Amino acid sequence: MAKKTAPRAAGTRAKERGPAAASALPDLSQYGRLAEYNRKRHFGVTPEPPGSLASRAPGRPLQFVVQKHRAGHLHYDFRLEHRGVMLSWAIPKGPAPDPTVKRLAMETEPHPLDYNQFEGVIPEGEYGGGTVMIWDKGAWAPTVDDRLGDEADVDRQLAKGDLKFVLLGDKLAGSWVLVRTRQRQWLLIKHRDEYVSTDDITRTKPLSVVSGRTMAQIAQAAGATPKQLTEAAGTDPTPGGAATETGAGRPPRRRSGTRQQPRETRSA
Ligand code: MN
Repeated sequence: MAKKTAPRAAGTRAKERGPAAASALPDLSQYGRLAEYNRKRHFGVTPEPPGSLASRAPGRPLQFVVQKHRAGHLHYDFRLEHRGVMLSWAIPKGPAPDPTVKRLAMETEPHPLDYNQFEGVIPEGEYGGGTVMIWDKGAWAPTVDDRLGDEADVDRQLAKGDLKFVLLGDKLAGSWVLVRTRQRQWLLIKHRDEYVSTDDITRTKPLSVVSGRTMAQIAQAAGATPKQLTEAAGTDPTPGGAATETGAGRPPRRRSGTRQQPRETRSA
């Protein structure tokens, strides 16, 4: 989670310039979009890739990735490719394919496209230190009404704080929306379609989509410290039981009866 992040003027700027502004994200100069990412990291120490902008081959689908990350706290980093970077949100409880569940998604700094291949361990003491798993990946596309949108539509929807899109991943699919509730704070919500489910997929589908490994196996292979290994293992569901710490550590939702309002929606 980007707790150390300096305040940004994103919301203010979008308001001043109106919906025609390029994006709600700060500093859209090609040089600056990964400046925050690069500033926070020591590339001689962390195995994460240094930030550089990627160009998109014509016709190549836009990439999305979700990385399960046990840093100070467990969260799922949700990233969407846009204009050469991966726009990023940290989702403490992970995505939910249930349209009645709204998941808090904190906007974080854009990441380089190379980051989509990163699975491993960030050293202790470094920014985001801890274990990272590639939990899901695939293609995404912005949507406007019933058609697919383009980059300009994404800019407009980000400025408005209402980004609609479809995902085509191994675990996540169909129509979704990110809605901004306040500066840098969004909710990720599933739209109703054939891909809705009440399954807690952070628990039913807990393995890496690229390596099939658990968090503990990733940590072990990357030479995590004992503390990091314990923390990573604590986020793996145990067979037939709850993980000691998962983003969705609460009991399975009941289909009927009193349903607790998801904590995130209180601030909506
Ligand atoms: Mn993270």
